[in-house]
Amino acid sequence: MPEGDTVWQAARRLHEALAGEVLIRSDFRVPKYATVDLTGRRVLSTVPRGKHLLTRFEGGLTLHTHLRMEGAWKVYGAGERWRGGPGHQIRVILGTEHRTAVGYRLQVLELLRTTEEERVVGHLGPDLLGPDWDPERALANLRTDPARPLGEALLDQRNLAGIGNIYKSELCFLLGATPWLPVGALPADRAEKLPGLAHRLLEANRDRPVRQTTGLRHQDLFVYGRAPRPCLRCRTSVRVADQGDGSQERPTYWCPTCQTGPAPAPDAPQRWRERHRRSPS
Ligand SMILES: [Zn+2]
Repeated sequence: MPEGDTVWQAARRLHEALAGEVLIRSDFRVPKYATVDLTGRRVLSTVPRGKHLLTRFEGGLTLHTHLRMEGAWKVYGAGERWRGGPGHQIRVILGTEHRTAVGYRLQVLELLRTTEEERVVGHLGPDLLGPDWDPERALANLRTDPARPLGEALLDQRNLAGIGNIYKSELCFLLGATPWLPVGALPADRAEKLPGLAHRLLEANRDRPVRQTTGLRHQDLFVYGRAPRPCLRCRTSVRVADQGDGSQERPTYWCPTCQTGPAPAPDAPQRWRERHRRSPS
């Protein structure tokens, strides 16, 4: 699952490449839209909403895409070689006179009326990188289910939109709580810091090519992807275990010394290894 800052960067790339231009190429390679032709329409904008991308066209049409685990939007100039993957992974091509945007492996690709966008993004909580960001509402949403493990609550885009698996682990570390600590057990002073902390992390990384949460020169992340190496603060071995509801379990990293709260036993079954090789986020 991508982080909100990755989606924000993808939206900016698409916006800069296409907005204001008229499409001279439109090629939908999914059966449902095989006959759709958007050539001649001007592209108005691309905006991110949490991890969703909305590309709007003249005539009140919106293309809704979501990168999920493996999707990507690439932008190419004329004559540039396409490097996003083999041709059979292309789901859509949108070209203007100067730029071509290619959507690879997009698992969500849907055309809808612009007036109906709420249907696909209306469920999202306040967007960490959006104009609607509202820290009080995000915290209130997180607290609606006090028994829920902190890590799961942070990933639930209905609470606040933009946190993926990397920021989940890093935020729990910065809060000194394991991802399995019930939200309601987080001390009030730390809970109140949470939305602001999440917002600052995503804002700070919005324009960075490499994600950074530590402020340290040679270490980008505190715990994510670092098991079993020593914690940067206390030198305890960083641990990893699955967290999820059974259908979607994700590798979750934490320091058992710096973070207090429940955690799986060290010999708990680990299902993350096979998937981890494919996609870390
Ligand atoms: Zn530590």
